[in-house]
Amino acid sequence: MPQKRIFSFGGGKAEGSKDMKETLGGKGAGLAEMSNIGIPVPPGFTITTDVCTEYYRSGKKLPRALEPDLRAALKRVEALTGKGLGDPENPLLVSVRSGARVSMPGMMDTVLNLGLNDATVAGLAARSQNPRFAWDSYRRFVAMFGDVVLGMKPERKEDRDPFEEVLEAKKHARGVKYDSELPVEALQELVAEFKAEIRRRKGIDFPDDPMEQLRAAIAAVFRSWENDRAIAYRKMNGIPSEWGTAVTVQSMVFGNMGDDSGTGVAFTRNPANGTNEFYGEFLVNAQGEDVVAGIRTPQKIKEMEARWPDIAEQLEQVRARLESHYRDMQDIEFTIERGKLYVLQTRTGKRTGLAAVRIAVEMAEAKLIGKDEAVLRVDPEALNHLLRPVFDGDRKAAAVKAGKLLARGLPAGPGAASGRLVFFAEDAEAWRARGETVLLARHETSPEDIRGMAAAEGFLTAFGGMTSHAALVARQMGKVAIVGCEALRFDYHARKMIVSTPAGAERTFSEGEWISVDGTAGEVVEGQLETRPSEVVEVLVERSRDPKSAPVYQQFAKLLGWADQARRLKVRANADQPDQATTAVAFGAQGIGLCRTEHMFFGEGKIGPMREMIVAETEEDRRRALSKLLPLQREDFRGLFIAMAGRPVTIRTLDPPLHEFLPHDEAGIAELARATGKTVEWIHGRIEELAESNPMLGHRGCRLGISYPEITEMQARAIFEAAVDALEAGAKVEPEVMIPLVGEKKELDHQAALVRRVADEVFAERGKKVRYLVGTMIEVPRGALTASEIARTAEFFSFGTNDLTQTTFGLSRDDTGPVLKTYLEKDIYPVDPFVSVDRDGVGALMKIGAAGGRAARPGLKLGICGEHGGDPASVAFCHEIGLDYVSCSPYRLPIARLAAAQAALKEAAKDKPRAKEKAKAKPARRVHVNGAAARHGRTAKTAARRRGSARARA
Ligand code: ADP
Ligand code: MG
Ligand code: MG
Repeated sequence: MPQKRIFSFGGGKAEGSKDMKETLGGKGAGLAEMSNIGIPVPPGFTITTDVCTEYYRSGKKLPRALEPDLRAALKRVEALTGKGLGDPENPLLVSVRSGARVSMPGMMDTVLNLGLNDATVAGLAARSQNPRFAWDSYRRFVAMFGDVVLGMKPERKEDRDPFEEVLEAKKHARGVKYDSELPVEALQELVAEFKAEIRRRKGIDFPDDPMEQLRAAIAAVFRSWENDRAIAYRKMNGIPSEWGTAVTVQSMVFGNMGDDSGTGVAFTRNPANGTNEFYGEFLVNAQGEDVVAGIRTPQKIKEMEARWPDIAEQLEQVRARLESHYRDMQDIEFTIERGKLYVLQTRTGKRTGLAAVRIAVEMAEAKLIGKDEAVLRVDPEALNHLLRPVFDGDRKAAAVKAGKLLARGLPAGPGAASGRLVFFAEDAEAWRARGETVLLARHETSPEDIRGMAAAEGFLTAFGGMTSHAALVARQMGKVAIVGCEALRFDYHARKMIVSTPAGAERTFSEGEWISVDGTAGEVVEGQLETRPSEVVEVLVERSRDPKSAPVYQQFAKLLGWADQARRLKVRANADQPDQATTAVAFGAQGIGLCRTEHMFFGEGKIGPMREMIVAETEEDRRRALSKLLPLQREDFRGLFIAMAGRPVTIRTLDPPLHEFLPHDEAGIAELARATGKTVEWIHGRIEELAESNPMLGHRGCRLGISYPEITEMQARAIFEAAVDALEAGAKVEPEVMIPLVGEKKELDHQAALVRRVADEVFAERGKKVRYLVGTMIEVPRGALTASEIARTAEFFSFGTNDLTQTTFGLSRDDTGPVLKTYLEKDIYPVDPFVSVDRDGVGALMKIGAAGGRAARPGLKLGICGEHGGDPASVAFCHEIGLDYVSCSPYRLPIARLAAAQAALKEAAKDKPRAKEKAKAKPARRVHVNGAAARHGRTAKTAARRRGSARARA
C-alpha cells in the first residue's frame, strides 16, 4: 500500500483521530478528532511527521509524491468551502501550521492568510465588502511570509524586525498610533513597501502563485523544527529530534471581519485553582495571535454572555462536549467569523498543582474518570503547591514590576517567606525568641546551624545545589529555601549581604532588613510580602483550621485516600524529634524510617556533654560524659515512640565523624576547655588530632561504635529504656536499631551483639520486654555485594542511598557541586543521581542487595531512607524492585504516597495485557522483569518532563 502522506478533516468527519498524535502532531490529531465529534472546525488537512522526516532525509526537499496528494487534499477543502486557492472571484485563504507530537507552544512557525496576491486581494475585498480587512490581511501575510518562509529576521541584535520598521515609519508618517487606524491606502502602500524590502534584502520577487506560496510555506514549517528556539525547547524537555513536526493546512476563518467577529483562547476549567468554570479571554475584531500578543486588552469570557449570547451558548456547548469527550481539562483556541464559531485548536491544559488536584478529584466525583485515573493524573511533585505558604500573587507581581526582584537561585524549598535578614544561626534563634520573623542568609549552612534554621522562616544560600545541607533541611523541615544563589556575597564581619541584581546594580543589605523569598520560583524580592500558611498545613500541622471549612484540604485528603488504596509500598518518615514525628503522622507516615540520633545532640543542653565525650581521653571520662547524654537521648526517644503510637521506629546509631560536633570558634573552644578542665591549647590539639582529610570515608558509622563500644551501648540503653518507659506510659512500641555503614558481616555482628546484650540488661532491670529488630543500612557497595552474608545477622535492610550514591560513583556530594553541574549541563548524567536513584549503577547494587538479603532471610524487611525516598521516579524504582517501604522527609510524604500509588497502578496496567498473553501462551519460564537498561530511558524522560513542567509552572 502506498504511504498515506496527508489526512483530511472537515465537514463533520476526518481521516485521522486523537490517537494519531505521532503521525499528525497534537494539533492535527486534535483538529481531526474535533471534526469527528461534530465540533465546528474549518476544513483542512494534515501532512504527516513522516513527510518531515522525508524532507530532511532528502536534503530539505519536499518529496515528489506529495504533489498529487496535496492537490487532491486541496480540492476537498475547496469543495467544502466553495472557494478556490488563487481564484480571483472567491479566493480560498489557508493557514499553514506547525504541530509536533507534544505541544511546543510558540516554538515553531505558522503562516496565516496564505493565498493572497494582487488579484485575490481584490476578490476578497469585494466578497467581504471590506477592503480594509482584505488589505490588512494581505500586509500581514506578506510580512509573515517574509519572516517565516524567507527568513527576513533582524540583521543585527540591535535591529528591529524589518517589517515592523516599515510599519512604524508608516504610522509615524500618517500620524497615527495604532495599526487599526491606518486607512486602506496606507495598507496598500505597506504591501508594496514590504515586497520592495524583500526584493532589496533577498533579491527575489514575492511569489504571487498561491501553489508556490503553499509549497514554500510547508517547507518552511518543516524547517522550523530545526530553529534555535525549538532545539533548545526539545533539549530542555527531553523531546527527541527524530520526531519531526506535522504541517496542517487549514482554510482561514476571520476574526477581523468587524464587530461581529473575534478571536480568543480559553480553558475549560480555571487552570490556576481548578474551579469548574469557563476561563479565558477574547478580542473583538481581531486575528489569531492578537490575543496573546497583548496589543489590546482582551475581555473575559464571562463578558461574552452580554455581548454575544448566541456565541456564548455555542462555546459553552463546545466546552461541555470537549470535556466529556477528552475527560480532561482542555485549552482551546477559537475564532468567530461574522457570528459563527470555529474551534482552531484543543489540547490538554497545563495547570498548577492546586488545580491539578481539584480537577482530578472533581472529575472523579462526577464519574467522568475513575479514582485510579484521578490518582494517575496528578504529578506527585505538584502536591508541593498545596503544602507551602503562599505569597499574595498580585502583590508579588507588583513588587517585581517595581524593580524589586533582587536575584534568582535554585528553588530548593518551594513556598513563600518574608523575614528580616540574619546571617548567623544563633541570631536566628535569638531574634526568633524575641518574636521576630527571620530569614537566614548565608554562604552555606552546616549541621551546627540546625536550630537557627528551625527558627528561621526560610533560608537563602549563595552556594550549594539541590542536595546541599540547606536544601535537605528545607525539605525535612518544610522550609522555604533558595540555594546556589550566585548573585549573593556576604560580609559576615560587617553583617551585610551584597547582591548583584539582574538590572546590573550592586545593592547592599544589612542585618534586619526585610527580604522575601519565593522558593517555588527561586526568586529573591526586596522588602516584605505577606504570606499565609497553606490550608493543608493549617489543618494537618497547625490544627488551626477545621477540615470542614477547608475545601483544598478535603480534596488533598480524598486524592491521597484513593492513592493509599492503590499503593503497595508503605511510607515512613525521616524524623529526629517528636514534633517532626507528629507532623509525619499527620502526613500519613506508617513509621519512622530514619531517626538520625546525631541531630539530637545539637539540641538544648546536649552539645556540651557530647563534646566532653568526644575530647575524653579515657574510657572512664568518656563514660562520664555519656552518662550525662543518656537521660537526654532517652527523653527524645520516648517522645518519638509516644508520637508514633506503635508504628515502627528505626533509630540509627551514631554516624558522623566525631569532629563534626566540635566547636570551630574560639568562644566555643574556651567553653569546652572550661567544662573539661583542659587548656585551650589542649582542645585545639585534640581537634587537630580528630581532623580527617576525607571524612566521608573516615572514622564514622559503625566504625565509631566498634572503636568506642560505650557510645553504642549508651544509645542502645537510651532506646530500650525509652521503649519500656513508653510501654509503661501505655504506648505500643516497635524499635528498630539500625547500624550504619556496614560493609562486612562481622561489623554488624559486633554491634548487634552489643545492642542485644544491652536490651537483655534493660529488660531484666525493668522486668519488661519489647519486641525489637536489629538491622543495618546498606550504603557502601560491599554491603550490597555481601548482603547474603550480612542478612544472616541483620533483621532488616535500609538502603542509605545518599551514601550509596556517593560511594558507588566515588563522588562526594559536598565537594563536587561544580562537577555535577557540568555533567548535567553536558548531559553526561541524565539526572542528578542524588535526586533520583541511578537505576543502572546504584539501582543494580540495590537489586543485588535485596536479592542477596532475601535469599538468606526470606521476608527480610527492606526499605530506603536516602533523600531519594521522596523522589517520585525513585519511589517507582523501589516499588519495582520489591522494597517494603520508602522513607522521606515529613513534607514529602504525600508525594511519596502518590508516587507509590502511581507505580502500583502503572504496573497493574502493564500486567493486564501481559496476563492475557500469558493465558494464551504456553506456561513459560518466569523471566525477571527488572531490566535496568530498558527502564533507564524512562527515568531520564520523566525527570526531563518534570524539569519542563516545573519551568512551565514558574
Ligand atoms: P501555535 O502552535 O504557535 O499556537 P497556531 O498554528 O495555533 O500556532 O497558530 C497561531 C494562531 O493563528 C492561533 O492563535 C490561531 O488561532 C491562528 N490561526 C491558525 N490557523 C488559523 C485559521 N485557519 N483561521 C484563523 N486563525 C488561524
Ligand atoms: Mg496555537
Ligand atoms: Mg549514610
